[in-house]
Amino acid sequence: MKSNSVTKDDIFKCTMCGECCVGYGGTYITEDDIKRIAEFTKVDGTSFVEKYCNLSAGKPVLAVDEDGKCVFFKNKCSIHPVKPRMCRAWPYIEGVLKEPSNWKLMATACEGIRTNFSDEDVVRCILEEQKKL
Ligand code: SF4
Ligand code: SF4
Repeated sequence: MKSNSVTKDDIFKCTMCGECCVGYGGTYITEDDIKRIAEFTKVDGTSFVEKYCNLSAGKPVLAVDEDGKCVFFKNKCSIHPVKPRMCRAWPYIEGVLKEPSNWKLMATACEGIRTNFSDEDVVRCILEEQKKL
């Protein structure tokens, strides 16, 4: 495949396996995330934080259910249109721009990441995606 024709959909396709939605304290949320998700779930911001968040190092993170999954994981993400920036950004993240070999490491935990592309293509796609966030 010609380098410039490689797109974000070539290097990553989410299989909705839900692996990244498991584990306590993994999903930080911003003020803007809280506003958007609270509106979507029809609760006010304060109640939203009390009901759906925990604090980690003083910052709100999404709470998890007894099964260890994010409170919003119901076979798939139930708040997909307004999911937190951190979830929307994955896997087009800063850490790969700093160290491209992280892409292959991340692929060991995320089955949607494809590793048969050059670092150059991966970095270019990430830079393009970051502009859209
Ligand atoms: S681990 Fe990767 S493939 Fe699975 S749901 Fe998360 S982003 Fe999608
Ligand atoms: S908000 Fe959605 S994508 Fe993000 S961790 Fe929760 S269920 Fe997964």
